[in-house]
Amino acid sequence: MTTMTAGATAPVDREPADPASVGLESVSRTYGEVRALDGVTWAFPRGTFTAVMGPSGSGKSTFLHCASGLDRPSEGTVRIGGVDIGGLSETKRTRLRRERIGFVFQAFNLIPSMDVEQNITLPLRLGGTDPDPAWLDEVVRRVGLADRLRHRPPELSGGQQQRAAIARAVITRPEVVFADEPTGALDPRAARDVLRMLRESVDVTGRTLVLVTHDPVAAAWADSVVFLSRGRIVDEMAAPTASAVMARWESL
Ligand code: ADP
Repeated sequence: MTTMTAGATAPVDREPADPASVGLESVSRTYGEVRALDGVTWAFPRGTFTAVMGPSGSGKSTFLHCASGLDRPSEGTVRIGGVDIGGLSETKRTRLRRERIGFVFQAFNLIPSMDVEQNITLPLRLGGTDPDPAWLDEVVRRVGLADRLRHRPPELSGGQQQRAAIARAVITRPEVVFADEPTGALDPRAARDVLRMLRESVDVTGRTLVLVTHDPVAAAWADSVVFLSRGRIVDEMAAPTASAVMARWESL
């Protein structure tokens, strides 16, 4: 049994069901004179997979940080599952990130001294909750790591590490998963496996997924692609293909 701190499992305040998992309203983020995000309004519908693309310096990282509550916008509102995260204290925002947002990073960000199972269940244990064994089994099976649970990350391939990171991201059944260049460090076959698993998490379990990438092949796995340029969303493409994404990208 994991040690619990008082109130650790109390749910973060929820507002009535919102059809959008993530909603941005007139969100800007400035760094001195630079408007890294410039009045972005966008809704990411629940159960969809959206890729966010744009050239270097277009504001992708800033977008990801503001939309996921890692950073506060200079102006505007961000809602996660209907909750205005700007109104939350730092403690509540941290808890919301842990309980309702999954993150997948290019560099995996697993803890090398913990085995795969400990890494996957960490967000639950940090929140004072024990994993439901049936759900843990299902998540582990979906990412194909049932026979690797006692391995530590340095003993795994990059693709296996990223699949462990995907399992960690979904174990809390989050409102939304943000993936930041999740295939950037992988060979094409491992990248395809990771993208297929992210796609399945949307199709099978109804997760909402926001993928930030500069890779048209990765973006083509999404339901739609939004294009950022100079801190603004300048276009959206439904049912993307890699070649159509590449053509649009080159015109940005
Ligand atoms: P991308 O991820 O698309 O490369 P970023 O969001 O990192 O774009 O950056 C958008 C703009 O904001 C760039 O002009 C960048 O130089 C600027 N910027 C980003 N972070 C900071 C920061 N911490 N301080 C100052 N300028 C920043």
